[in-house]
Amino acid sequence: LTRRRNITRISTGSKNIDDLLGGGIETWAITEFYGEFGAGKTQICHTLCCTVQQSIPDGGLDGGVVYIDTEGTFRPERIMEIAQNRGFNPEDILSRIMVARAYNSAHQELIVKDLGKMIEKHKVKLVIVDSAVAHYRAEFLGRGTLAERQQRLNRFMHNLLRTAEIYNIAVVMTNQVQSAPDSFFGDPTRATGGHVVAHTSTYRIYLRKAGKNRIARMIDSPYHPERDAVFMLNERGINDPAEETSKRK
Ligand code: ATP
Ligand code: MG
Repeated sequence: LTRRRNITRISTGSKNIDDLLGGGIETWAITEFYGEFGAGKTQICHTLCCTVQQSIPDGGLDGGVVYIDTEGTFRPERIMEIAQNRGFNPEDILSRIMVARAYNSAHQELIVKDLGKMIEKHKVKLVIVDSAVAHYRAEFLGRGTLAERQQRLNRFMHNLLRTAEIYNIAVVMTNQVQSAPDSFFGDPTRATGGHVVAHTSTYRIYLRKAGKNRIARMIDSPYHPERDAVFMLNERGINDPAEETSKRK
């Protein structure tokens, strides 16, 4: 309990999701967002790049960000838009985001191994991996390669978790979904990466589309109840629908 008192939280920019997480994204843990294309995973990552830089009373950690981009979807223009609409100085925000484009799984592993120096030098409080499993999915095809893939993925995930614990920083990763043809009831999708990713992520949040809105559900957590939160994507990155309507009035 004493050790856990050192854990701090980053506001996501949406009060609904903060509530779902019990106050925001925790340090000392891996928080995983998974869901289909366009569900808002990358948008959450972009918004967090801004909110983590706020002062502690404002919901941030006054920290820098390492953004490991495996899909080539990091957009500095989008960061500028979000920063501007949230009343931050876009250039200041961009200057504290270190982007590493990972071209394959071996490269991605190398970046994570070398994170320590970067974290100390730039006072990094948040490491983002968007997305963590995509390269492994593309490189290891067929059942014959499954064991090796899971071993490599396991080591990668544990290196991430260790980094989060050693430096008391937050790690946020995104994950894609695959169809689960054997499920007859409910949503026939599940996160990729199998048991390895499922066990290593501290918190798992499933994102799905609901018309214009998005619904986030806490799927696996050692202490949060399983429930839903509604949010939306707009010029502020992610936002609460209620706030949106009251602004329009
Ligand atoms: P993928 O699995 O393909 O990476 P993702 O979950 O990362 O998907 P995002 O990139 O987070 O998907 O979300 C894309 C959606 O975000 C778009 O469909 C659009 O609805 C919304 N969006 C993107 N940019 C803006 C913007 N500037 N203003 C409002 N909404 C936006
Ligand atoms: Mg994405």
